[in-house]
Amino acid sequence: MFVVGLTGGIGTGKSTFAALLLERGAQVIDADALGRDALRPGAPAWHSVVDQFGQEILVHPSMEIDRKRLADIVFNNREALKALNAIVHPMIFKAIADELDRMRSTDEVVVLDAALIVETALADICDAVIVMDSTDEARIRRLKRDREMSFANIRAVMTSQLDPQVLLRRADIAVSNDGTPEDLAQEADRVWARLIEMKDARA
Ligand code: ADP
Repeated sequence: MFVVGLTGGIGTGKSTFAALLLERGAQVIDADALGRDALRPGAPAWHSVVDQFGQEILVHPSMEIDRKRLADIVFNNREALKALNAIVHPMIFKAIADELDRMRSTDEVVVLDAALIVETALADICDAVIVMDSTDEARIRRLKRDREMSFANIRAVMTSQLDPQVLLRRADIAVSNDGTPEDLAQEADRVWARLIEMKDARA
């Protein structure tokens, strides 16, 4: 197993790039999806988050956590974000560790798609780190268009994340995503070839 951390700020194209690497043969672990699972009604993190933030973050009658409402709270309040991370991160790390354990003895390239790799101990378990980058303008335009996020919410998330220049200093491979989807697919070809080289050099 060769573990690749794929990181970058919101809207830089991590999930899009992870999908391109999946097409080229990678296994992908999606930390956002694991986070969503951890917050399902009845899951341990669901109980802790409801205790912390109150019943008003629940959608009735499904009792699901309203992720948009939760995001509005935490991305405008540093302490609330810390409290949420303290609950959810250990669950996500455990789920990632379980997925990695499942693939440990294989020859797979495993791509870990996660915003928080450089900020957390996840960087230590990666054999290589890819950092995605894109201009703020392109990120904001795509997120408004595809995720229907408001400018204020996008800005609030961006401000809560590490400075792109700091992230890029930790990159083994940097990918700039300022062109078309076709340009990004070409980058994926280049990066996939490089990852195979790195995996083979290590073997
Ligand atoms: P992240 O996972 O880093 O938050 P995404 O991969 O979800 O970012 O990308 C944000 C949005 O921008 C998605 O809707 C995606 O389809 C779109 N997108 C990503 N790269 C490009 C690109 N090069 N051209 C046009 N749209 C893009």
